[in-house]
Amino acid sequence: MNKTFRAHDSFHPRFKEISNEIEKISKELLSYGHKYDSSCFTRSLNENETVESVLCGHSDRLAIAWNFVVNPNRSHIQATKNLRVCRDCHESTKLIAMIRQCEIIVRDANRIHHFHKNGQCSCNDCF
Ligand SMILES: [Zn+2]
Ligand SMILES: [Zn+2]
Repeated sequence: MNKTFRAHDSFHPRFKEISNEIEKISKELLSYGHKYDSSCFTRSLNENETVESVLCGHSDRLAIAWNFVVNPNRSHIQATKNLRVCRDCHESTKLIAMIRQCEIIVRDANRIHHFHKNGQCSCNDCF
């Protein structure tokens, strides 16, 4: 029962750099008052997991972190996700766009989210 899909891609050759970047982003989010939201979880945590570590493994976050690894001064990022973006990713991506002053576009299963540098998303949080 516990063989749920995991977005964590530890086989990526630059995984270490990506996870460092995710950690950095995560600290920035927390310092801006972000609170990790576990309400979108569909399963219980394994022993070695925290709410934060699971949420940070979502594919849209990995994609965003990867973009910052490749170019820390990016002003534009585009990512696709084949599921619907979860509430926590949506909140954090809004903050990341503002903190990093980077336009982020995430196309999910339902719609396209355009996260602006002012911390707003084009969907007005209706998703
Ligand atoms: Zn998510
Ligand atoms: Zn949105």
